[in-house]
Order: sequence, then C-alpha cells, then structure tokens
Amino acid sequence: MSVLLEKLRAIVGAANVLTEGDLGAWEQDWRKRSRGKALAVVRPGDTRQVAEVVRACAEAGTSIVPQGGNTGLAVGSTPDESGTQVLLSLQRLNAIRGIDAANLTMTVEAGCVLQTLQEAARNAGFLFPLSLAAEGSCTIGGNLATNAGGTQVVRYGNTRDLCLGLEVVTPQGGVWEGTSGLRKDNTGYDLRDLMIGSEGTLGIITAATMKLYPLPAAQLTAWAAVPSLDHAVTLLGLAHQRLGAGLTGFEVMGKFALSLVDKHFPALRVPFIDDASVPWCVLLENSDSESEDHARSRFEALLETAFEAGCVTNAVVAESLTQAHQLWHIRESIPLAQAEEGLNIKHDISIAVSRIPAFVAETDALLAREIPGVRLVNFGHLGDGNLHYNVQAPEGGDSKAFLRDHEDRINTLVYDAVEKFDGSFSAEHGVGSLKVDKLEKHKSPVALEMMRAIKRGLDPQNILNPGRVLRST
Ligand code: FAD
Repeated sequence: MSVLLEKLRAIVGAANVLTEGDLGAWEQDWRKRSRGKALAVVRPGDTRQVAEVVRACAEAGTSIVPQGGNTGLAVGSTPDESGTQVLLSLQRLNAIRGIDAANLTMTVEAGCVLQTLQEAARNAGFLFPLSLAAEGSCTIGGNLATNAGGTQVVRYGNTRDLCLGLEVVTPQGGVWEGTSGLRKDNTGYDLRDLMIGSEGTLGIITAATMKLYPLPAAQLTAWAAVPSLDHAVTLLGLAHQRLGAGLTGFEVMGKFALSLVDKHFPALRVPFIDDASVPWCVLLENSDSESEDHARSRFEALLETAFEAGCVTNAVVAESLTQAHQLWHIRESIPLAQAEEGLNIKHDISIAVSRIPAFVAETDALLAREIPGVRLVNFGHLGDGNLHYNVQAPEGGDSKAFLRDHEDRINTLVYDAVEKFDGSFSAEHGVGSLKVDKLEKHKSPVALEMMRAIKRGLDPQNILNPGRVLRST
C-alpha cells in the first residue's frame, strides 16, 4: 500500500493525499448513518491526474470511491470500513471551462458546486434550472452520477435531460472526451446516458456540457391550501392546462411535515398552519417569458378556476422574489425539521401521479395498523410523481430504538406497496449501498442481468465503487 501512496503523492502532490487527521467530512455520509475508513483521500486537480490515479489504483488492485459534495442520500460516496479504498474527491476540478451562448450550453468540471453554476449562468444572462436543497454543497458530477431531480423537473426534467455531453475517466484510466455539446448524435450506444445515474460504478465524470435556458421575465410562486391529495392532483392537471411550459414547480406538503417545520423553525411562519381544516398544501411556481403582469394574470386566473372547482380553499401569491424564496425555504426546510425531530426512515418513491392519492391512503392505513403510533411525513415533487414518504417514530419515542426495531419491516411494507402500484423504490436518490437489496428484490431478473453484464464489461476488475448499485460477487 505504501508503494501506491507514494505513486499517488507523485501524481497529485503530497498535500492532496490525506491519510491522517480527521477525515470525517469525507468518510461519513451526509445523514451520518455510516462511517467508513479510507486508505487515503486523494484530491486530483485535473482530468489527467484523475486518469493517472485510476491507472495507479487499477495496477495495485485498489478500489476507488468517487466523491463530489458528499450530500448523496444513499451512502454511495463514502468508503467501506476496510481501510483499503481510495476516496477520490473531485472537488478541485471546479473550473467553468466555457459558456457557448449560441449553443445554449455551459461546459464545466465535475467538482463545480451546483449553486456556483446557477450563478455563473445567471451572470451570463441564462438559466441553469437544476435546483435542490443541497445546491450549496453538491457538485454537478454528483448530480450527474445520481441523475438528481430537484424542484424544476416538471418543466426541465432530471439532470440527464439537462446534459449534452460528458468527459469520463474509465475504470482502466482512459479518458472519453464527449463534451461536444451536440443535440443530435445517433452514433451507436449512448455512453453519456449510460454514465448518468451510474453512481460512480462505471466511470468517473470529470466534466460535462450542460444545457442553458433563457432567463424567465417573471417568476411567481403561490402557496395553496388543498382539501385532499386528490384535489392536489386535480390542481396539477389544471396548472398544466393553464400554464403549459410556464409551470416550473409543483410541490406537495402534508400537514404533519409542515407542523415539524413550524415546531423546529417557527420564525419561518408556515402559511395556514393554524387552520385545522387544511390537510395538504401545494407550492406552485409559474415562470413566464413575457412579463410580470402576464404571469400574474395567468396565475390568478388559474387560482380562480381552482377555487371555483373546490380544489383550493385558500392561497397566497408571493408579492416579491424575497417572499417567494421564503415560501421555497419552508418547503426545503422539511428534511432539516425531520432531522431535528429525530432519526427517521426515508422513502424516495415514484408512482404515476394519478395513483398517488390511492397509494398514500392505502399505505398510511397499513402502517398505522401494523405499527401503531408511527408518524408519516409526506411531501415531495408531486408534479413528477415523486413523494418523500418518510416515517418518524411515535411522539416522544426513542427514534434510534424505533429504527432498530422497525426499519426493516417498515421498508418492506412501503416498498411492497410501491411495487403493487407499479412504482419505483428510488425516484431520485439512487441505490448507493443502502438499497442494493431493494434493487435485487424489485428489479426484474432480466434487467439485473443486463446491469451486471454492463458492469462486468466496463469494469471487469470491479475497481470503481464496488458494492454500490450492484452487490460485489
Ligand atoms: P456525492 O454525494 O459526493 O456522490 C453521490 C454519488 O455519486 C456517489 O455514488 C458517488 O460515488 C458518485 N459521484 C460523485 N461524483 C462523481 C463523479 N464526478 N463521477 C462519478 N461518480 C460520482 N437529490 C435529488 O435528486 N433531488 C432533491 O431534491 C434532493 N434534495 C436533497 C436535499 C438535501 C438536503 C440533501 C442533503 C440531498 C438531496 N438530494 C437530492 C440528494 C442528491 O443526490 C445529492 O444532493 C446530489 O445530487 C449529490 O451530489 P454530490 O456532489 O454531493 O455527490
């Protein structure tokens, strides 16, 4: 091992091979559910160094765990406990290589923080629409590797839909240059789409060409109280009809999720929180390419129709961008409020939008029956059929003991219900090491075998992120 470490120091410089001191920031996952031990944290500064590090590790038979911002929620970016894996941090690859205004693209290195990209795009007069609560820390490489979703998917799609090209270091240390930014290229298998969502198991993304969009002339946000989840789905249909491509966000939040925000962050002032007749709220965003007046009149017409149809009982439309940010901040504070309340069991599921109300009604009743006292924290990107269907210990209960005693059973109940509704057990957080067994249980044998064949074909040495997505055999 010391020979490998010497080689790595020669490639990236001794200061960028960390073996001592507190490496917790790299070795522990964001939710603090798992802590591993790395042989070393290696921080290359460019693509050539990444390729040389991979070649050195492949020669030594040492596996590599790629890491961006380490905000992933499926325990995919931290090493195992063996102390033999190299943790490859992409954070120093953080240059914006260029913006091509005519092509509406931006070519960036994998370690760029998402928020930095949003700001760079805005400064150049464009919108880069990927947006999620971890945007101040997560990197575009991690977003691509997990095919992250976020709050704008209803209009712009997942990270995959925003990507036109990649530069990737292969498990053998070769470099695939694919950042040409073409919108059309039907020349064989789509390697870009294969890499996106592969969670660092097939290649290391070092750069990407991402799509840019015109900045909207106006953006309006409304917070609406709805009498039921069925009404929320009806409202979504109306919003699609009335706003068309202007509908850029549609989030749903259950009352209990909002009550946790109110309890732990009372300064955020959750709308309608004291109204006992409001079981669900919806956050809608309308982006308009014409003007603020045009946006407001369309938005108000939509809400009027929704009131008349009985699917909205109360609503506030943000009067300013600051107020809109405050409303979004409430939505984005739900995971933090949950963490304040104690450990919880997260399910990031997707189901056809039309079937979500039936799924929630049936699964809520099932869990209440099987595990009395559980508290259900429901919220998510309803516009994409993506719910964060989370489970909190009973009021006043010991959340650690609750997870120890009930987590497996609750996961089985929820994921079996998801399968019954033809849904997915991981909508946007990926598989990582946390859900390898779920993949084996819920994917078809044919799909699994194709995945294994791809992994064997591209990474026969099983060097890249072994045991993540697919079990190491
Ligand atoms: P990491 O956590 O470092 O890595 C994630 C995975 O990608 C790992 O398997 C890692 O090995 C691999 N990887 C990282 N970089 C590379 C690379 N350059 N090449 C190859 N593999 C790589 N996700 C959503 O989809 N939607 C949300 O709304 C959302 N909200 C979130 C809110 C919070 C508060 C948090 C903490 C997370 C949220 N996430 C969400 C999870 C989301 O997947 C991550 O935040 C983000 O996409 C991961 O980026 P990262 O740079 O932190 O990657």
